[in-house]
Amino acid sequence: MASPFDSATQQELAARLRFYRDLGLGELYRRPVDAALLEKLKAAAEATAAAPEPQAAVAPATPALIPEEATIPPRKTFPAPPEVGGMVPAAEREAALRVISEDIGECTRCELHKGRNKIVFGDGSPTARLMFVGEGPGADEDAQGLPFVGRAGQLLNNMISAMGLKREEVYIANVVKCRPPGNRTPEPEEAHTCSPFLFRQIDVVRPEVLVALGATAATYLLGQRQPLAGLRGRIHSVRGSRLIVTYHPAYLLRDPRQKKEAWADLQIAMKELGLALPAKG
Ligand code: URA
Repeated sequence: MASPFDSATQQELAARLRFYRDLGLGELYRRPVDAALLEKLKAAAEATAAAPEPQAAVAPATPALIPEEATIPPRKTFPAPPEVGGMVPAAEREAALRVISEDIGECTRCELHKGRNKIVFGDGSPTARLMFVGEGPGADEDAQGLPFVGRAGQLLNNMISAMGLKREEVYIANVVKCRPPGNRTPEPEEAHTCSPFLFRQIDVVRPEVLVALGATAATYLLGQRQPLAGLRGRIHSVRGSRLIVTYHPAYLLRDPRQKKEAWADLQIAMKELGLALPAKG
């Protein structure tokens, strides 16, 4: 069905929905479309555009309906994740990761390949004790072929430093390895197609602790969609690793007040890894 909203409004709504998702408000419902109301809104919008003055006299066509649900994937059964792979000796992990990368090849398994420049496989130590999982590459990552190298990446680097670690000591990967157009949330189809490679990376690296950055990473690592709020502050178990869920750095850039909360999450990870926590006071 054609959207009743122009592309700028659609993009604004998509951004708002992503913001809600990052807040942990995972379940939004579209009200049934009232065709008569829609016609009225369209007519009002047209009248507003046509009328030279006074604009304020016409009620703005405030979007009362959510036109697309693409950014909030519908609840679906998740395919069973692949069986956990056998332990790879530390000295062979780099080569094992290369094999996964070669298996991905010049991937065309999902639609995302059409808009990508570079596949963003992953980065960091193949023997890392800590692994971060994001959603998918953005423009900078797509250009460089490396995860988290843009603004959100700078914040992630700061978070890693605050934990007393160096970026080279951790491993970083994403749910999808090609940039979704306009940085939209990956579709379930795309995430399900790509995530087996992420699972294989996790099985090779065998991090003691995984940190899911944002709702998309948490959803596909846990195999179920749940509001972020209910997932934070707890230790989950995924493929033999302990999983901590926190906010995505891009969300923290939009709402820096939540950095304190994210820091509390990272301290759970630090405690699990036996890293020195900052002195209180
Ligand atoms: N956001 C992500 O989720 N991953 C990246 O690699 C960069 C930004």
